[in-house]
Amino acid sequence: MTKPPLTLYLAAPRGFCAGVDRAIKIVEMALAKWGAPVYVRHEIVHNKYVVDDLRAKGAVFVEELDECPTDRPVIFSAHGVPKSVPSEAAARQMLYVDATCPLVSKVHIEAERHHENGLQIVMIGHAGHPETVGTMGQLPTGEVLLVETPADVATLAVRDAARLAFVTQTTLSVDDTAEVVAALQARFPAIVGPHKEDICYATTNRQEAVKAMAERAEAMLVVGAPNSSNSKRLVEVGARAGCTYSQLVQRATDIDWRALDGIASIGITAGASAPEVLVNEVIDAFHARYDVTVEQVETAQETVEFKVPRVLREKV
Ligand code: SF4
Repeated sequence: MTKPPLTLYLAAPRGFCAGVDRAIKIVEMALAKWGAPVYVRHEIVHNKYVVDDLRAKGAVFVEELDECPTDRPVIFSAHGVPKSVPSEAAARQMLYVDATCPLVSKVHIEAERHHENGLQIVMIGHAGHPETVGTMGQLPTGEVLLVETPADVATLAVRDAARLAFVTQTTLSVDDTAEVVAALQARFPAIVGPHKEDICYATTNRQEAVKAMAERAEAMLVVGAPNSSNSKRLVEVGARAGCTYSQLVQRATDIDWRALDGIASIGITAGASAPEVLVNEVIDAFHARYDVTVEQVETAQETVEFKVPRVLREKV
């Protein structure tokens, strides 16, 4: 039986960012240095495949610090943690390594600087996401107010409209965030913003690549996890840019082939925490059913790399 033809557009860049790469390396190097088990507070990055792989190597994933013994190392995830977490670890004399992405730490520092200057902070982010919890937890309760949408801005009760600053989660939709920032600036003209937006290079680049693919592809598949903020934003960006079918898949087995029936082109990308092995699995699944022509859609080249903390670079 002849296979139907399909043009498969592949986003570049896609998948792992420098912060995810570093966080995974931190767990692997900690296991090599101190042996198993090494505890990790929260999923090191939001991807089941990555977490399962590290678990098999000896990492133990927990949600809170009080689930860790004091005689084993603990690693904090790439999303960042409230200040109370390292304080508690220090109080219990635990050995800890912070795998917070340096671009998230940069936002923490920004928020602290504004606070020192007497400004109240508005954070644009998703309620309950660990990065939002971590950033808000850098300052005392009430010093950081959370907004998700322009409607939230309209009802926001601030201490002093003349003394405000805003920061954002790093993995938001660039376009949605611009709308919330515009609403903040319209209601609070004196609000201070970051010199350069807090949405990170990896989030921005992956969204740009999806927009470029959506101009050509009928459908979009994003390889990523349902709790991965940047992956979910890629699905939304694909839908908004014109793909009537834009869907998140964790693995090839999640693909709804019936929904793709009759399409001649598809765009494929991966969230910043999704490994390339899963992208290849999805591409192979298309090769099995279609006569595939792969075209790469490159909108940026990435060369960012982050060093792991010194404690892991030192010889035992
Ligand atoms: S998505 Fe951006 S902020 Fe998050 S880990 Fe990657 S580089 Fe860092």
